Amino acid sequence: MPTRKIYERPVIKKLEGNMPNKFGMRSAHEPTQSIEGHAVKDLINEFGSPLFVISEKKLRKNYRNARQAFQTRYPKVQFAWSYKTNYLDAVCNIYHQEGSWAEVVSGFEYDKAIRNGVPGSKIIFNGPDKTDSDLRKAITNNSLIHIDHLDELYMLQDIARESKMRPRVAIRVNMDTGVYPMWDRFGFNYENGQAWDALNKIMFSGLMDLVGLHTHIGTFMLSPNAYAVAASKLAHLAQSLLNKYNHEIKYIDIGGGFASKNTLKGSYLPGSDVSPSIHDFAEAIASALMNSDYRPKTPPVLVIESGRALIDDAAWLLGTVLANKRLSDGRRATILDIGVNTLFTAFWYDHLITPAQPITSYTEDTALYGPLCMNIDVVRENVNLPLLNRGDHVVVHHVGAYNMTQWLQFITLRPNVLLIDEEGGKHLIRRAESLDTITSQEIMPAHLAHFDL
Ligand SMILES: *Cc1c(COP(=O)(O)O)cnc(C)c1O
Repeated sequence: MPTRKIYERPVIKKLEGNMPNKFGMRSAHEPTQSIEGHAVKDLINEFGSPLFVISEKKLRKNYRNARQAFQTRYPKVQFAWSYKTNYLDAVCNIYHQEGSWAEVVSGFEYDKAIRNGVPGSKIIFNGPDKTDSDLRKAITNNSLIHIDHLDELYMLQDIARESKMRPRVAIRVNMDTGVYPMWDRFGFNYENGQAWDALNKIMFSGLMDLVGLHTHIGTFMLSPNAYAVAASKLAHLAQSLLNKYNHEIKYIDIGGGFASKNTLKGSYLPGSDVSPSIHDFAEAIASALMNSDYRPKTPPVLVIESGRALIDDAAWLLGTVLANKRLSDGRRATILDIGVNTLFTAFWYDHLITPAQPITSYTEDTALYGPLCMNIDVVRENVNLPLLNRGDHVVVHHVGAYNMTQWLQFITLRPNVLLIDEEGGKHLIRRAESLDTITSQEIMPAHLAHFDL
């Protein structure tokens, strides 16, 4: 029997203010009924709700596209996967299989990279928090230590002197790239001479191998030109080292921070329209390096630590509608089982959220709330959505970066994470937490073990 379309009476839709043109923002909603060939409904039936789903195919595609963007423009390029962006082992190993080194910012992340089998010499150790034992481990493994502050520099000198080992180091440089507020809390400042001072201290000490220069100018950067400024400032430092010490560094590490296609809160247009492409960033960086005054015998390797731009659009978060209600001002509110605990990036993005089943053409401005008994648990303040019913599913797009590391174990437990491989095969790569996951970390003092109520 042919299925007959359901009759819908025509509706008059109000145009909302603050829109790009007189027709308003597109409010046509295409449901997302399947992900990589798997029906959302089936995935939720099998793995529960909420559920993170990651596409291996998309991860590899994004990586290869980025690598190609840089390699066609610059002779020697090395990517290093930013662990804090998503440090699930399976995800890291996909990038490592593609040739990416590891970029870590804590002893925990460092150990995770080693455990994944990354050779110590291919781990870049960034960040302000490196303990004495972290540094000793990194030196022994011949890792690349990016010095953040003078206290770390002096600590390294002490260890080097005492252990007779030569740490391989770079300094992190912060600078004015024309994007404000300036990120000046990490590393040594370029403009006020701190960076040059730190480099001289390293060269004069004679205790360390100065192998690189590093910067990471910010995150979700929308200006390729800021990277051009950063690259030319690092190139200038490299040339100063060459002039004064006849010393050639091996690499220039330009960090990450390239914007993904997500939409920042308060942005007038969606991220898919305004974020520059990886090719725009590559062009700015490669040109700035090659056009600089740096004249080494061997061109330095260009290291890229891109995180979010390589992964954001390769993951989705599937969820379920718990209830609908009317707020006191008459506005519609829909409560999901996805909150800021699972979707931490809801604090700064307006995520694209689509229904996972066929919808009618009726839409309404809706506040999307999470399941937490907390006022801050808002997924979208106000979004025009088709009406969803209890039990319906939704798909949140572009969730690959920072959610699976910054998620909170708060009020509820963290859900399953599923990887879909290139052939469509399903792999659970992180089990949902249980009460045991949490209580196994707790210790009950004997005198508190019993009570009578
Ligand atoms: C976080 C971080 C990155 C990755 O940043 P994205 O915005 O995810 O690209 C790279 N390098 C350093 C030092 C970082 O702290």
